[in-house]
Amino acid sequence: MVAVIAGLVLAHVWPVPKQEEGFVDAVLEDETDNALDLPWLASWSAMDRAARKGQTCTVISQEPGPANTTIELVSASCEAGMAHTRAGDRIVIPESVPLAARPDTIRHELVHIFQRRKPEVWADFYRRSWSFELFAEPPVGIPKEYVAARRSNPDTWVKPWACWMGRHWPVQIYKNPQSPQLRESRLMWWDSWRSQMTDTSPEGWYNFFGSQSQEEHPNELAAVLLTADDTATEAGRRLQNWWQSEGLRQGFSLAA
Ligand SMILES: [Zn+2]
Repeated sequence: MVAVIAGLVLAHVWPVPKQEEGFVDAVLEDETDNALDLPWLASWSAMDRAARKGQTCTVISQEPGPANTTIELVSASCEAGMAHTRAGDRIVIPESVPLAARPDTIRHELVHIFQRRKPEVWADFYRRSWSFELFAEPPVGIPKEYVAARRSNPDTWVKPWACWMGRHWPVQIYKNPQSPQLRESRLMWWDSWRSQMTDTSPEGWYNFFGSQSQEEHPNELAAVLLTADDTATEAGRRLQNWWQSEGLRQGFSLAA
């Protein structure tokens, strides 16, 4: 029942209710870990656990961040050195993130904090303006091996499945299921009409979203487009318009 995360003393073992197939009980990584992280840890698949083996997220320092967030500087290995957000309005920055990159990183992560605070407001925007619908469960018919190989992302994990135009599902999968690595993944698309997986973006995707660095989920697209102040794409323009009206009304602001 216990997932052992290598190299660490397991100070706490938390029995959790039986999860869906493929999920096991969560174990805090060490005694400094935050209990707020339990649902996220419990959501990992077997591959997600393997991809994080040996990583630690020990908090080195904490400081107040923008918009009543807390910035936690953590061990370099946490999430393979990738900044992310966690429950409790925490922006988590591995110490391997260069100092010069941190302001832009924090702006990007602040968008994820806003998404965490009002997920239904963002889901409504994605639906109305981007033709994206979010789901907690994978689409019917998608082969199990792709579900098992999906790379979980702390900034999208509550509703990780997204469907564009009622048909196209982006899925970030581990390149090597035998030895999954967080930074070794690729984007695939499940076409639920044709019941096929492809590595090609759907028709119309590029015209609407442009070529973006993180296309796995609307939460990532929104964070990338807002941080870049993108108005060159139709998706970026719609997001900016919404952000400057509805977003501000909701208290979203990237101003320092
Ligand atoms: Zn992100």
